Amino acid sequence: PDVNAFLRHHIRTVPDWPAPGVQFRDITPLLQNPQVFHVLIDAFVHRYMSRDMRPDVVAGLDARGFILGAVIAYQLKVGFVPIRKKGKLPFTTVEETYELEYGSATVELHADAVKPGDKVLLVDDLIATGGTMMAGKNLLEKLGAHVMEGAAIVDLPELGGSKRLTDAGLPLFTLVDFA
Ligand code: 5GP
Repeated sequence: PDVNAFLRHHIRTVPDWPAPGVQFRDITPLLQNPQVFHVLIDAFVHRYMSRDMRPDVVAGLDARGFILGAVIAYQLKVGFVPIRKKGKLPFTTVEETYELEYGSATVELHADAVKPGDKVLLVDDLIATGGTMMAGKNLLEKLGAHVMEGAAIVDLPELGGSKRLTDAGLPLFTLVDFA
């Protein structure tokens, strides 16, 4: 069975959301269907269970990266840490600001979320320009962690984000490409 084609078939494309001209790839149907949810999570867990790929920690990007990352971490029996939009985390944080199409965004991570030398798996649902995942990588590296890989369900390769991330030294694992 072709897992990637199966998963692709369950991603819903919503035209003109959140803005005209945008084709939003909605991953919620993958979570809603129990069989599909299992296939999805197992695709990641299978890869990161192997001894040389097993992370010390999973970091999830706000907000859909929390859903995926927490379940993957639970299955791997490792901890989960959230990378949140600015202003949500209560304890001491490190922060990273990055450019968006219009304006900028800031993400934060608790200063004690990872230790120097930790091998971290960084998880989100989708890579577009790569800005969000790059900011997450930079944050984790500020704390001395090693981001071993970035994982996402969807890559939009034409936006150049996945190339930018791999060029910056971050290996990627994604399940479905959309042009
Ligand atoms: P980037 O920073 O790579 O440009 O954008 C990726 C971030 O925006 C991810 O956190 C992702 O959740 C969100 N995002 C942007 N476009 C889409 C989309 O079409 N579908 C989904 N599910 N998320 C998107």
